[in-house]
Amino acid sequence: MRIAILSRNSNLYSTRRLKEAGEARGHEVEVIDTLHCYMDITSSKPTVKYNGQTLPEFDAVIPRIGASITFYGASVVRQFEMMGTFSINESVAISRSRDKLRSLQLLSRKGVGLPKTGFAHHPDNIPDLIAGVGGAPVVIKLLEGTQGIGVVLADTTKAAESIIEAFMGLKANILVQEFIKEAGGADIRCLVVGGKVVAAMKRQAADGEFRSNLHRGGSAEVVRLSREERETAVNAAKVMGLNMCGVDILRANRGPVVMEVNSSPGLEGIETATGKDVADMIVQFIEKNAKKHATRTKGK
Ligand code: ADP
Ligand code: GLU
Repeated sequence: MRIAILSRNSNLYSTRRLKEAGEARGHEVEVIDTLHCYMDITSSKPTVKYNGQTLPEFDAVIPRIGASITFYGASVVRQFEMMGTFSINESVAISRSRDKLRSLQLLSRKGVGLPKTGFAHHPDNIPDLIAGVGGAPVVIKLLEGTQGIGVVLADTTKAAESIIEAFMGLKANILVQEFIKEAGGADIRCLVVGGKVVAAMKRQAADGEFRSNLHRGGSAEVVRLSREERETAVNAAKVMGLNMCGVDILRANRGPVVMEVNSSPGLEGIETATGKDVADMIVQFIEKNAKKHATRTKGK
């Protein structure tokens, strides 16, 4: 098969691994810089141009779209879909997953366990917003944050009020969330491919930190999932309409709760922690599912 990886940088671990895995299985794999693609979107015969050339027909694309280029990246993926190329994650699902609020609303509607969450831009009754998620301690998140930046734990109602006021002053959209204390600074990353959890790791926050992001000094180890956790991850992927994703779960007393679903999950942490060849499983999924005009709008 002829596979394109849409990625800004061919040296990134995940990009490199996917290329290696594809080639190891006898495919022709090209890394295409998403932002350098351009296209005539009105042509009756849609194509994608790159470096002055029309790109050849690919059987499949693997989008690795960073959060900062979601808008343009999703439209490049959409153009490939217009050409009938199979995308492991469809453009609509990528855009959907990048909107944290939209994602939580959809997951909630389908009964997926979530931390109690409030959303606000300019609340005129901050104490009520805090009380609505069960009162302090609460976690306050900038809607646009990544890698744990813009995620703050407020121990008291007073602290929560000042943080919310400060974010309001910046005109930011925020989520106010129940703090899942019993998770003990750990979260679980489930890598879902084709409706199955193919690898899972537990990330533990550094001492004195509640955010378990590897970028925030967290450490990762392999973990055994309960059946309920597995089902929660698979269900979340399905609701989002993503064939491949990372589902982040917290172990709450009432069961697993989903924090977020990532449509371009990094492979380095999870392959290192679990010793699994996730890239190979992704390529195998593509082999089985990449058919012309097979991209359909999935998810709810
Ligand atoms: P980002 O998308 O920036 O990584 P997250 O929402 O995933 O932000 O939060 C970062 C980390 O903070 C999570 O991995 C988790 O360890 C911790 N965390 C986030 N929300 C909660 C919560 N409601 N209760 C307990 N810990 C949380
Ligand atoms: N972008 C990375 C991922 O989603 C973030 C990992 C992290 O910071 O823990 O896999």
